[in-house]
Amino acid sequence: MHDDKSSSNPIELKTDVVIIGAGPAGLTAAYQLSKVGKQTVVFEKGPLVGGIARTENYKGYGVDIGGHRFFTKVAEVEAMWREVLGDDFLHRARLSRIYYKNKFFYYPIRFFDALLKLGLIESLRIGLSYIAARLRPYPQEENLEEWVSNRFGKRLYQIFFKTYTEKVWGIPCTEIKAEWAAQRIKGLSLTTAVKNALFNSESQSVKTLIDAFDYPRRGPGMLWQRVQELIEAQNHRVFLENEVVELQMNGRRVKQIVSTGPNGSTIASGDHFISSMPLSELILKMRPAPASEVVEAARKLSYRDFLTVALIVRRNDLFPDNWIYVHSPEVQVGRIQNFKNWSPDMVPDPGTSCIGLEYFCNEDDALWQMSDPDLVALGRRELAQLGLVEEADVLDGVVFRQPKAYPVYTGEYRVYLELIKAYLNSIENLQTTGRNGLHMYNNQDHSMLTAMLAVKNILGENHDLWVVNTERSYHEEIRIPASSPFPGVTPQAKEGA
Ligand SMILES: Cc1cc2nc3c(=O)[nH]c(=O)nc-3n(C[C@H](O)[C@H](O)[C@H](O)COP(=O)(O)OP(=O)(O)OC[C@H]3O[C@@H](n4cnc5c(N)ncnc54)[C@H](O)[C@@H]3O)c2cc1C
Repeated sequence: MHDDKSSSNPIELKTDVVIIGAGPAGLTAAYQLSKVGKQTVVFEKGPLVGGIARTENYKGYGVDIGGHRFFTKVAEVEAMWREVLGDDFLHRARLSRIYYKNKFFYYPIRFFDALLKLGLIESLRIGLSYIAARLRPYPQEENLEEWVSNRFGKRLYQIFFKTYTEKVWGIPCTEIKAEWAAQRIKGLSLTTAVKNALFNSESQSVKTLIDAFDYPRRGPGMLWQRVQELIEAQNHRVFLENEVVELQMNGRRVKQIVSTGPNGSTIASGDHFISSMPLSELILKMRPAPASEVVEAARKLSYRDFLTVALIVRRNDLFPDNWIYVHSPEVQVGRIQNFKNWSPDMVPDPGTSCIGLEYFCNEDDALWQMSDPDLVALGRRELAQLGLVEEADVLDGVVFRQPKAYPVYTGEYRVYLELIKAYLNSIENLQTTGRNGLHMYNNQDHSMLTAMLAVKNILGENHDLWVVNTERSYHEEIRIPASSPFPGVTPQAKEGA
């Protein structure tokens, strides 16, 4: 740091690069900059590093916000994970199933398992409904329901797509644009899915990703806490509980940012600024404000929120899955994590388990507004209703909320995003990175990659961060996040985020 006049309020700092957010993107930027001798200051509004990929801690139990599988095709990202975690980077076996109509279906779908559990009659209905869809498809695929039904038949759509998708996104499938599906599940149909299941045609590398994954011994937050320690050891500063509330502009440049935290405000100036905060918030914090159409566009970006009810259960071996997708509409829970099966070190007492019930919601809806004790009671009830745990075995519970977990791609979002992007591209010393920083469905690896490229840009290269996810080839052609409507069909599906 070049200058630190911290004797009076506000604290004033000058550094090479000011970073907003200590999630994967922000901390990757700081880590990479530390390697090339640039100084940084990181501002994080929460009390913990790691962003959505943090590990919360409750009485020694680790709670991962989502269940973060580590997998990537980006060599630089893989190298950083290994460099930072060393032997604490575990290779774990994976099992996940779909719960539907009181039955557990392997996910990715195993053809004969599904056939057996659905029964001959249901399987025949699926087949007939598929034939009907091929003979008389929807002529214009306007929405997700039509798009999926055309490819898989209405019956399969209803069983494996509709309920889970609607839980995740909170809107009927008929309101989700068909182009969203087209973008995510290119080239897939029931025939290819069945062919894959029967003839096992996926590549060895994809198979490996299906059967196993990498995971830090104490959850994803362990990686980010370690990165924090490493950069702090190089005199970089990470201000926790410090929310950036204003970006003060000087023409086409950011002059400085203002943050507020427990010790008052801080004003930080730098040659460069990297932000990973949600675009919708960033634009509204710029002073003077950008043109009104840019501000309006920022206001129109939308998100889906997420909460985890973590329950501590007096049983050491509940079920073998790392996670279970709950398609059944009679419960609100969308996915259930068994953290011990991600890593035994997530649980301090081996005689107990910690189960994370994941609810997809919006900040203004009834679920999000429920009190924590009510949510714990709901989780406990639903876990028992699904037959996974006896209510009496639940010892304790806690709730973790994650606003803006998913950038939403609906309506005119592209138009708004283009407006925002054009404006941000005109700011000379500001780069936005990561998931909400680009309003892109980036997993950790792509969030990190955008930060790595932002650092390279600072060093004189010229990379377009807005195309990272779309341009880089990935381990599956069909990129399907967990939250997506399409678990349960394609063996190549990635259901991380
Ligand atoms: C349910 C779920 C499951 C997922 N599963 C996987 C998975 O299996 N594998 C995988 O690789 N990825 C997964 N992801 C995606 C992964 O979590 C994200 O890609 C990653 O966390 C994005 O990193 P980021 O730094 O861009 O953003 P974030 O993680 O959102 O971090 C941004 C940080 O900025 C801070 N911030 C915001 N505003 C301000 C402000 N004004 N001032 C200061 N700080 C601010 C936030 O508090 C936050 O810490 C999952 C995501 C979800 C929601």
